[in-house]
Amino acid sequence: VPVDAGRSDKGELRTADGTPILLSVNLNDPAEIDALDPATTAGIGLMRSEFAVSSVADAANEEKQLAIYRDVLSWAVDKPVTIRMLDIGGDKPLAGLGDPPSGSSTDLRGIRLLLARPEIARVQTRSLLRAAVAGNLRVMLPMVTFPSEVDEMRQIFREEAAQLARRGLPHLIPPIGMMVEVPVAALMLDTFETADFFSFGTNDLTQYLAACARDSSHSEPFHRRATPAVLRLLGQAMKLAGKGSKPVSICGDIASDPQWLPALLAVGLRHFSVAPERFPAIRSAIMGLRADGTRVAGE
Ligand code: PEP
Ligand code: MG
Repeated sequence: VPVDAGRSDKGELRTADGTPILLSVNLNDPAEIDALDPATTAGIGLMRSEFAVSSVADAANEEKQLAIYRDVLSWAVDKPVTIRMLDIGGDKPLAGLGDPPSGSSTDLRGIRLLLARPEIARVQTRSLLRAAVAGNLRVMLPMVTFPSEVDEMRQIFREEAAQLARRGLPHLIPPIGMMVEVPVAALMLDTFETADFFSFGTNDLTQYLAACARDSSHSEPFHRRATPAVLRLLGQAMKLAGKGSKPVSICGDIASDPQWLPALLAVGLRHFSVAPERFPAIRSAIMGLRADGTRVAGE
């Protein structure tokens, strides 16, 4: 639980040498916000909507989704809330989905599944468009591989916004960004001109780079040994992302582990989104490091 007793600049965070850092929270179960003070955070860097939409009935329920998204947005007041569209498939199956349900991490999942089942994407799109008027919403697309996928989803947002306008329902098209968690996308990041922001998902990036499924019993040591390669790819992708000067963050679990923070700072990352229970440890680790990732003496 992010707490920062007695400080007036509660949400503000700097490295030991004064570089501003944004530290956000990853939200799974929306009920977790009850134990969080938004003022101590830079907002929600990743809300995994699979927890709010956990059945086929939920996926078809625009009003129910709207209520959940609105709750989180009003809790955050003016802090950004990044809601990721449904990342179904792979390690996150949706029971009862029918065709094409995919349990494979290299088949239809994330945005591929959303575009293959547009009726699911359209319901969530309408909920998000309507929720956007209640706060500072950013929408994030999961498992993007090619720029055309961002464009197709953006088109769905435009079409649904036009529908809502015809029905006289208040709505807003929010910024639409993407997870960078497929190696192809990371290597080609400068080609994603239509994405408004990027967030590195190292959980999936690592499984695809190391050819070792994240839910495999071998994955722990395997993924640890693959991390230097993941960091090298992040470094390259940061340079490509920088060309467009778009907001970049990291929300994979690597950001919740203080041992990798020096390397993440060194590649230029300045916005981290971490599990709520890791927030205090990551916050103090950042204050003990310089922006280049070196530790201040005595730390
Ligand atoms: C990731 O892949 O790193 C990520 C943050 O998304 P998820 O763990 O939900 O797949
Ligand atoms: Mg992922």
